[in-house]
Amino acid sequence: MDLTGARDLARELMDAHGLRRWTFRFDSAKRRAGLCRYDTRVISLSRHLTALYSPEEVTETVLHEVAHALAGPRAGHGPKWRRIAREIGASGQRCVAADAPTVPAPWEGRCPAGHVHQRFRRPTRPMSCSRCRPGFCVEHLVHWQLHGEDVDLGPRYQAELEAAVARHRRSRLAG
Ligand SMILES: [Zn+2]
Ligand SMILES: [Zn+2]
Repeated sequence: MDLTGARDLARELMDAHGLRRWTFRFDSAKRRAGLCRYDTRVISLSRHLTALYSPEEVTETVLHEVAHALAGPRAGHGPKWRRIAREIGASGQRCVAADAPTVPAPWEGRCPAGHVHQRFRRPTRPMSCSRCRPGFCVEHLVHWQLHGEDVDLGPRYQAELEAAVARHRRSRLAG
């Protein structure tokens, strides 16, 4: 299929299934047809494979990726993804060419030593780096960012953090 037509088709299908805020792109992959990136909200198709596909195959590939976008990063090719894929008109089979959606976690934290920790959910309590030291210790506290930006983790998190710091200070004075 020609790439202009494929782009229009992809955009149409994405909009029809509520992905107006997602971006469409072509990429240069040669082994997988499509990709769904949750962190940047991008669905992309391989320009090489798309050029070789029929419109039906392009449709199937786009719907496959749309289903990933709707099912969320943790669904993989499991039952939730399969159900959504069938609902929107894809076969719900693993695709024409195998894909592997990348699943970067939205939450990334670093300890003072630079160890990276990833989470799919908002951290609710302060956490310290288990690679630096087992057990909780404020000296190895993990600093969390959401999509690379500092965010307020809420009053409960803050209160626990302050309590932990105070406990630590007391124990150092005592010891
Ligand atoms: Zn897939
Ligand atoms: Zn560490």
